[in-house]
Amino acid sequence: MGNPFDLSGRAAIVTGANTGLGQALAVALAQAGADIVAVGRSAMDETQGLVAAAGRRCHAIKADLSTIAPVSAIVEETLATFGRLDILVNNAGIIRRADAVDFTEEDWDAVIDTNLKSVFFLCQAAGCHMLAQGAGKIINIASMLSFQGGIRVPSYTASKSGVAGLTRLLANEWAGRGVNVNAIAPGYFATNNTAALQADETRNRAILERIPAGRWGQPADLGGAAVFLASRASDYVHGHILAVDGGWLAR
Ligand code: NAP
Repeated sequence: MGNPFDLSGRAAIVTGANTGLGQALAVALAQAGADIVAVGRSAMDETQGLVAAAGRRCHAIKADLSTIAPVSAIVEETLATFGRLDILVNNAGIIRRADAVDFTEEDWDAVIDTNLKSVFFLCQAAGCHMLAQGAGKIINIASMLSFQGGIRVPSYTASKSGVAGLTRLLANEWAGRGVNVNAIAPGYFATNNTAALQADETRNRAILERIPAGRWGQPADLGGAAVFLASRASDYVHGHILAVDGGWLAR
């Protein structure tokens, strides 16, 4: 049967793959054998170099996922480039911070559109192809705020709680048809997304004191979970939200 974690010959779309967690997810999948379609609004040169160093191909697609306009073209271009689509990682996401009483409609819509609406329609577009071929792996990037309320991030909490619900809904509809839909919920990871928290000495100390592992996550810490959920090893895992959090939720 070979290595159940082997992704050789598979093609994976990773959104927001130019930096942070998305880049690490793309590299981990490539190191396990997958070719990568790196989707985002910024240049993918660094990620393309890292994927090439892992011996795999990386095709970049420029797309702004604040609307669903590019969604069907992303799937079509993937199929035209690699002739297949086996894995979708919905990673691109944004956060806006303000007290609930001051929160604007713009900050609400921007986060929900990118983190939830585009995620659903990318799942739909990739899912249609995967259902037709009777196989596929979808991994949505959730958050601790898929389980907890958070503070001063109402649209982010709503979006990531929504991602968890959506992951379960899609698993219910597609598990019997060969498509696995799961999510990874990262704890506190050192990326651009959390730069403000890391720079705030008081918040930084409070966060570190609460993490049993005693450190921020590094993007590469997510790789194993992604390879597992993208591979044959997880064929009977459906609708699961896998926390990779240094023990944060266990506290
Ligand atoms: P990041 O460094 O800010 O990366 C976010 C990625 O999303 C970037 O590639 C960004 O592209 C892309 N993106 C944002 N808006 C986009 C748009 N409209 N169209 C296309 N791409 C867009 O943050 P990160 O920490 O790696 O976050 C990745 C995911 O993990 C997000 O969904 C985030 O919510 C989630 N997450 C992060 C943490 C954490 O502790 N870091 C914890 C839980 C969940 P640009 O570089 O062009 O902006």
